[in-house]
Amino acid sequence: MNNLADTAVSSTPPQDRFEPGEVVCVVLPLPIEAAYDYAVPVHESLVLGDVVEVPLGRRFEVGVVWGPGKGDVAAHKIKPVVQRVGVPPIPDVSRAFIDWVAAYTLQPTGAVLRMTLNPARRWQPPTPPTVIAAAGPSLETAGVKPTPARQKIMAAVSKGRTFDSMSRMAKAVGVSSGVIRDLIDVGVLALRPVAASAAVQLPAAPTLEAGQRAAAGTICEKLGQGFSVTVLDGVTGSGKTEVYFEAIAKIMETGGQALVLLPEIALTAQWMARFVARFGFAPAEWHSDLSGKQRRENWLHTATGEARVVVGARSALFLPFKDLRLIVVDEEHEGAFKQEDGVIYHARDMAVVRAREGKIPIVLSSATPSLETMTNVQAGRYAEVHLPTRFGVAVLPKINVIDLKTDKPEKGPWGRAWLAPPLVKAIDDALRSGEQSLLFLNRRGYAPLTLCNSCGHRLHCPQCTAWLVEHKLTRRLQCHHCGYNAPRPIKCSSCGAADSFVACGPGIERVAEEAQARWPEARVKMVASDTLDRPSAVAELIEEILQRRIDILVGTQVLAKGHHFPNLTLVGVVDADLGLSSWDLRAAERTYQLLHQVSGRAGRAERQGRVFLQTHDPAHPVMQALVSGNDAEFYARESEGRDMLAMPPFGRLTALILSGPDEIQVKAVGEALARVAPQGEGIEVLGPAPAFMALLRGRHRHRMLLKTRRDIKPQALVKDWLERVRVPGAVRIQIDVDPYSFF
Ligand code: ADP
Ligand code: ZN
Repeated sequence: MNNLADTAVSSTPPQDRFEPGEVVCVVLPLPIEAAYDYAVPVHESLVLGDVVEVPLGRRFEVGVVWGPGKGDVAAHKIKPVVQRVGVPPIPDVSRAFIDWVAAYTLQPTGAVLRMTLNPARRWQPPTPPTVIAAAGPSLETAGVKPTPARQKIMAAVSKGRTFDSMSRMAKAVGVSSGVIRDLIDVGVLALRPVAASAAVQLPAAPTLEAGQRAAAGTICEKLGQGFSVTVLDGVTGSGKTEVYFEAIAKIMETGGQALVLLPEIALTAQWMARFVARFGFAPAEWHSDLSGKQRRENWLHTATGEARVVVGARSALFLPFKDLRLIVVDEEHEGAFKQEDGVIYHARDMAVVRAREGKIPIVLSSATPSLETMTNVQAGRYAEVHLPTRFGVAVLPKINVIDLKTDKPEKGPWGRAWLAPPLVKAIDDALRSGEQSLLFLNRRGYAPLTLCNSCGHRLHCPQCTAWLVEHKLTRRLQCHHCGYNAPRPIKCSSCGAADSFVACGPGIERVAEEAQARWPEARVKMVASDTLDRPSAVAELIEEILQRRIDILVGTQVLAKGHHFPNLTLVGVVDADLGLSSWDLRAAERTYQLLHQVSGRAGRAERQGRVFLQTHDPAHPVMQALVSGNDAEFYARESEGRDMLAMPPFGRLTALILSGPDEIQVKAVGEALARVAPQGEGIEVLGPAPAFMALLRGRHRHRMLLKTRRDIKPQALVKDWLERVRVPGAVRIQIDVDPYSFF
């Protein structure tokens, strides 16, 4: 039985074809309800999903044939489609998915379609593809010095392996593009046209351990068997990636495409290198760091089915796959899967919907699955496979708590300190044995708050409800919400005192400063999202770590997840309480997940890792769960708490965020909405109230929260609600179904 063949769009039923003279409805990729009727041009017939160019007012837009004409435009006003764009039609399942997401998120279909269609809008036929391959001569024969970088390249192109672009090769191999270019110049590498149907030759697969084999077997059995969700729940370092690679290998054998979603592009570099090592080719990437040309190529290859494996950020979900047969969501618990602007959606949840629409299996992988996912496992909606131990000889790290109330950091000649004596000693030990340490603090910059020592005036952003964060590297005070920045003032604007500003609290720059002062010989490196915004930058850093050119890493969460550094044995969490202070229904869960992930970086090879959590509250359930490793108890407690309050996943939330330049106007809209708020059993409306970020990028913000019982669908309620209120043009209402952010 192959039910996948049935869903392929190769054979078009007759009613899906439109002949010249007929009228079709075309959805345009615009953030408004925009579906207009157009006439099929005289020179060609059209099918559902065809990408077409149409006139719109005085310009031309590229849209998609969505169905027969709606008949709401007078016949004489209907304009013809200009032409069909030379790309494959958007498949039925993609269109059904777009419709579903639009209805669920309460967004216009066009806004969702935009995520699918973007590259096609500036369509140009791609240049004939070439690949980079070994040209024949060895480094020695060509007379170039066999540097480590060059040798790595040679190893990568051995056995006939090729790469489809210089940048991709650089990323996958972990060298700079310059080295590759040089080897092309001296004739060691060459650009070759792509062979028509290069058969993929898989390098030898790793031998799986018994537990891994069983997990892989369970997942592989689901391939081709319709829709299913499997949670791959394995401790950090258990080999979850190797396990789902088996399922991808099976797809490579049997045909079709696979999609892997990663939460952050910072994770792609090491992932790509592992993929290339396992499969011998680089998958197509999809994220914000691609050039326009790469985007068009990867989009087209996904649509034609040439791209067998796609790895990407959340928007990859909207690519028009020709024959998608497997989805993997790696680190499924990650908050980064929630897109917070434009179409607000959760990519993990929508991935499950995409799998259901496509009748294919999906794997949700994590060491700390979300409470939502665990609840689905317990209810029997999702299957689960478990990997309880690390791969090989590696064992889970030993987790210690440092009580900052008793073990206070000792000041040094450099000033205030943030590292408590037990952690300092542990770093001493690590340095002595030549091992690497990671100091984790989820806060960029030097100090999160700057205040006047004489009057207490705090420097905050003029456009946001936020303090300005001092950055010593850039010598500026920055707002992390809107990008506003200014030099540190010399005089206090409030009391006039000169040179009175002092930094309060630590950011990673300040911790790095302390580390360098304590260990002048050590090679300290600071890492944050603003220094690591491109996969290539990440690749270089990873190489530096692997080559042991760094002793102490000081970083935010960019490096806290997913990466595998064999020589890193110590993790110090500078402020384990940081995430717990915010009001957020998931604060404890998120902190637990993040600290667990960070801890999981320690001791991933022969030597057992050590983790130190600095906290003011050692008895907190999050710290206790981390120390004891009893995550079941932690989840049970969290789950009970949410169930009692009917909070997600036991109830549903929908947030309305009202914003505008004029606070009184925003408030008035909130009050008007409150007067006609939905009512009934199992329905509750909270607010309006000024948002925590009451001012953001110069806009005043109020929030409302609709809380509904699990069996009540909020979409119809919200639609109906909004129709009953007149909203002035300057006020914007954002709808966030299943909110993850409450600021
Ligand atoms: P996780 O994603 O669960 O944290 P990884 O998939 O990153 O774990 O695996 C941890 C390390 O162990 C990686 O370096 C991986 O290559 C290695 N590894 C896991 N399973 C195997 C195996 N069966 N054979 C060889 N190496 C393995
Ligand atoms: Zn700001």
